[in-house]
Order: sequence, then structure tokens, then C-alpha cells
Amino acid sequence: MTLQKILVTGAAGFLGSHLCDALLAQGHVVIGVDNLSTGNLTNISHLSSESRFSLMEHDICKPFDPGKVDFVFNFASPASPIDYARLGVETLLVGSAGTFNTLDLARKYKAGYLHASTSECYGDPEVHPQVETYWGHVNPIGPRSVYDEAKRFSEAAVMAYHRYYGVDTHLVRIFNTYGPRLQANDGRVISNLMMQALRGDPLTIYGTGSQTRSFCFVSDLIDGILRLSRSNEHLPINIGNPDEWTILECAQEVLAVTQSQAEILFKPLPQDDPTRRRPDITRARTLLGWEPKVSLRKGLEMSLEYFRSCTN
Ligand code: UDP
Repeated sequence: MTLQKILVTGAAGFLGSHLCDALLAQGHVVIGVDNLSTGNLTNISHLSSESRFSLMEHDICKPFDPGKVDFVFNFASPASPIDYARLGVETLLVGSAGTFNTLDLARKYKAGYLHASTSECYGDPEVHPQVETYWGHVNPIGPRSVYDEAKRFSEAAVMAYHRYYGVDTHLVRIFNTYGPRLQANDGRVISNLMMQALRGDPLTIYGTGSQTRSFCFVSDLIDGILRLSRSNEHLPINIGNPDEWTILECAQEVLAVTQSQAEILFKPLPQDDPTRRRPDITRARTLLGWEPKVSLRKGLEMSLEYFRSCTN
């Protein structure tokens, strides 16, 4: 593998920081960009003495130029429902102006480009499991629209730069992912339940808990993304774990792993909360030779120490 100079936006985020680690482990030089709106410097503090890593504190909505790079991973965006509700306009801007600015860099330097898209492109899906050819069922004006439509717009922008300018682009649709460095207080189900269980607080279940999600451990996700970045595939690819759980079942797994006696507390279901979600990963399997290896139980065990450290 030729060593490259690689730009990672959202480098101080959960996925961005793990991506930086994986690229550095392969010997590449990595320039991280983050405006720290939801990213956290602790996620990359272990890289402070790494000479092949540097961080630009910058908002990608404003044009910037890090110099010649060989590849751009665009991972900058608020990503949890709580964060994008709080930062609605910023989320729309980073998924439009920010995406254009990073695409312009890839075009200028003839660099490869991979955009972090999302299962939210499918909205509350009527097709199950979700295949990449499904166009989705998204409320364009609901509370999730700032995230969903920004990500859908970004996909259109990425495909346009591929079609009109010949940029070597890739689109990954990321399904629910968890692991160390997931923000402990970002309101997502795994972080909430793990933190509640470890503190002995009641586990909050929204609605009846019969809605489903399919949870991918972060190392599996990063492996899939790296494979996609090296492929010739330009159309979207789902990367996620097809092992589907109801939220109530997920809470039972959390209780088992944390050995907690915490109770369950039912709360109202947020508006437009998707009722089910599971990736069809046939394309990832056949085109990338990828499939997840880490079960939910194992992944929660591997996250336990991290979440415990967040309770202090
Ligand atoms: N959820 C829950 N309790 C929580 C947090 C989330 O029951 O404390 C539910 C939420 O309503 C959704 C699912 O868990 O159905 C996943 O929510 P999350 O915010 O992690 O991400 P989403 O997949 O909805 O983007």
C-alpha cells in the first residue's frame, strides 16, 4: 500500500478519531480537521506526540486549504439526535457548504473522497432490511430533517462531483455504531443505557421499546470504511451489523454486561423515531468482502471500561 497524506474532517469525533487511529496505524500521514462543536479533544489526546498527525481547528463550512492531500474522509457533522436538534442550522450547513468545501479540495488535488452518510437517508423505512436502492421515507420538515436532508443533499453533491468532475468518490451509509469514545452524554441509546446501568439509574426506554436497531461495533465499521475507500465503488454501500435488536432486548444486554439491577423506565417516543432499522449488507459482502465480526454482547463488553471511566 502506498503511504498517503489523508485529510479527516470530524477528526475529534467518535468515528473520526477511530479512523485517524486506523490510518496512522497503516503508516499514513493524517491531517485532522474539527471545529470541536461536538468533537472532543480527549478523543485524540493520545496523538499529541504523533509526528504524522496534526489537527486544524477549523469549521469546514468556511473554505480552507490544508495543501495537497491524496484522500479526504468527510466525517464532520453533529450526529446524535440530541446534538443535531441543538445544532440544527449548523448541521444543515456542514452537510451542504461543508461538503462542497471538502469536495472542492478532492477535485483540486485529484484526491479520493469518502463521505460519511447514514441509514437516516432511509428515514422511517418501509423496506426492510434496507437495501441501498431504496430511496427512503423521510419527513423533510420534521425534527430529524436537519440531519437527514443534509446527509441526503451531501449524497447528491458527492454523486455530482463524481459525475460532472470525475472525482473518485465513495459513499458509506453508516448504521448505528457504538464503542469507546461514543459521547457518554449524547442521548443515544447505547450511551444512555450503559451510563444509566453503571450508575444504577433507571434505564430510559422510549415508547414501548419494540422499535429495532442493528448495532455495529466501531472496529468493524472502520474496517468496512477502509475497504470501501480502497475500492472502485462509487454508489452508496451500507456498513452496519445486520443483527437486529428491539430496544428492550438491547437494554437486557446492557443489564447483563454491566451486571446492573437497574429498573426500566418507559418514556414517550420522540417524533419520527424510526420503527425499525437493519442494513442489507449484500453489497458490502460481495464488493468489499466485508462483514461484521463483533456481536452486541462482545462489543458492549469491550465498551464497558470506557463507559465506566465516564461515570467518574
Ligand atoms: N432510545 C431509548 N432510550 C434512550 C435513548 C434512545 O429508548 O435513552 C431509543 C430511541 O427512541 C430510538 C433508539 O433508541 O428508537 C435509538 O436511538 P438513538 O438516539 O441511539 O439513535 P437513532 O437510531 O434513533 O438515530
